Amino acid sequence: MTTPLLVLEKISKKYLSAGGGLEVLKDIDLQVMNGQSVAIVGPSGSGKSTLLNIVGTLDLPTSGKVMFDGQDILNLNEKEQADIRNRKIGFVFQLHHLLPQCTVLENVLVPVLVNEHAANAEQRARDLLEQVGLSERLDYRPGQLSGGERQRVAVVRAMINGPKLLVADEPTGSLDIAGADKLADLLVKMNKQHGLTLIVVTHSLLLAGRMDMVYELSGGRLVSRK
Ligand code: ADP
Ligand code: MG
Repeated sequence: MTTPLLVLEKISKKYLSAGGGLEVLKDIDLQVMNGQSVAIVGPSGSGKSTLLNIVGTLDLPTSGKVMFDGQDILNLNEKEQADIRNRKIGFVFQLHHLLPQCTVLENVLVPVLVNEHAANAEQRARDLLEQVGLSERLDYRPGQLSGGERQRVAVVRAMINGPKLLVADEPTGSLDIAGADKLADLLVKMNKQHGLTLIVVTHSLLLAGRMDMVYELSGGRLVSRK
């Protein structure tokens, strides 16, 4: 029996501005099972990043309930939320956010610095980098890598603490078709081989099509497309 890793109930998000309020998310319900892969598509400005930030506990909804791994996130204090974020959730963004002065290996180990439970991190980093075809690049700096290689490093960095959930916001948005395809392969592989639950915001119908489920965000509501 699979169990839900993430349950969103009636999530709404309003941004307040001088001209009044903007309701970006309206009563969103979503259930994501352990090991499932989910794509969220939708036009620019439809609230995809807002939703992903709420899922990743980087931002709070205006109302609604977020259950993650059996815990009611909004009932936790900031320290407890940060702990879940650091240990159970990995993040990949459109731009890699690697530290330019650090090597590939050092970049991958950055999240370990805030994880008291990390053990054998360097060996895991080497293993993961080998799995993504970067074992020859451990001592390179980000500036010496291709865009696709940088994103693969970003994925490994997101996985170094052994998260249950990987959230990715347009991870292929800055890559060419070949690079995007390779990154899609990698995300699917991590999902299948490591049982990693995946939530990916993307404009790429190719990447979206490779996920188990596809939802479209439009007018503040989430509609199932697959
Ligand atoms: P997407 O990722 O789908 O392009 P976003 O979630 O980034 O959309 O933004 C959705 C809407 O919310 C946009 O109209 C954006 O301008 C607005 N928005 C996003 N973040 C903020 C914020 N911090 N304050 C006010 N408005 C915001
Ligand atoms: Mg966005």
